[in-house]
Amino acid sequence: MKMTLIRLLAIILFVVLALATGSVVAYALIMVDAGHGGSDPGAVANGYNEKDLNLSSALKLVEELEKLGYETSMTRNADVYVSLSDRAARSNAAGATVFVSIHQNAAKSADAAGVEVYYCPGSYYGSKLAARTVDYICQATGQRNRGAKEASFYVLRNTDAVAILVECGFLTNSSEAALLADPVFQRKQAAAIARAIDDFLREDYCPGMPHARLSAPTFALLGPRPNVFTLTWAPYNTPDASITAYDVEYAPPGGSWRDLFSSPTTQTAHSFRGTAGASYWFRVRALDTSETPGPYSPAVRVTVPSDQGVFRYSYSWRTYYSATRYFGSARYAYRKGAYATYAFKNAKEVYLITTKAPFYGRAKIYVNGVYVRTIDLYAPKGQYRVPIRVLSYSSPTSGTLKVVMAGTKSAASTGYRIEIDGVAVR
Ligand SMILES: [Zn+2]
Repeated sequence: MKMTLIRLLAIILFVVLALATGSVVAYALIMVDAGHGGSDPGAVANGYNEKDLNLSSALKLVEELEKLGYETSMTRNADVYVSLSDRAARSNAAGATVFVSIHQNAAKSADAAGVEVYYCPGSYYGSKLAARTVDYICQATGQRNRGAKEASFYVLRNTDAVAILVECGFLTNSSEAALLADPVFQRKQAAAIARAIDDFLREDYCPGMPHARLSAPTFALLGPRPNVFTLTWAPYNTPDASITAYDVEYAPPGGSWRDLFSSPTTQTAHSFRGTAGASYWFRVRALDTSETPGPYSPAVRVTVPSDQGVFRYSYSWRTYYSATRYFGSARYAYRKGAYATYAFKNAKEVYLITTKAPFYGRAKIYVNGVYVRTIDLYAPKGQYRVPIRVLSYSSPTSGTLKVVMAGTKSAASTGYRIEIDGVAVR
């Protein structure tokens, strides 16, 4: 009974202390990774080996982090070779919260200078920590700020921790190299990195918060409406929270953010109909069990394919309906020799949107005057707005599509009529 009371008091005291300091980082192990080493010198320039400067800077970073009360570990603390997979494995086995890889940069141009910090593409926490780190270093040293950047480096991709890779400066720049090798300068950088990690953990890092992110949209080009696309999203970086809902927002062209809808966790996709040629932004956030929203995902921009041209019709074509769909209006022709041309730009795929029916015939397809194929529009039952892929290219290509009424009767094609409902490109 007494023991329970003491434990309860201890918990209350802990909670009071936690509230008093605003936020508490209960436990954080920082894995410091000195890049290269042993048989791998890294960049070699101006009389310096990158591996040596990485190690002396990493050792100073460990000291600065320990001054702030963090537990640290290193992937190497001597001039030895450690593979990339071993570096990631050591961090993961230790359960590190943050992984910091220290490197020195190199460039062909001797003028290149400054600091850049990399994080794994799509990592919300990685982007926060990288941005703080590069800003803090440059404020402390006056170096050029080259920014926080995404890169799919092995150690960033394969560590469970929030991972960054710091390029401290350019060894290939003789004046910056001299600074990078100076122990006082290294200490300045190390202290700035340690403060960035500390502020990140206290202000940005909230593993209890739910996160979600969007995938690249998929266009329903082969469906009935090529201007409709589907957004999908999924939780990520959400180790502790259970998500109960998502908020999806969008910004129309030139507009500000507005609610698209809130969805239960069972819904992770939504179809959106855009205007041809217009761009939209989308973002999502997840809500936890107490309806507290996590941070917004990085925004995704979607540009709806635009009308790239118009059909030019020769001979007599009749308008079937004039509503602009599929970036064209539907027309049909009966007369042999009737043709239509369409100039397309920057297309990897070109689709003819057409109709098949019992009384329809054949059409010949040409591109830039060269015969490509014949399509048979006969079908025993009417099929409306059928996309037929007539062309595909390995890189964006421009050209002129020509659709010619072939009109040849066959056992299957009992009629002559062809119809052009439009064209879709992507
Ligand atoms: Zn390196």
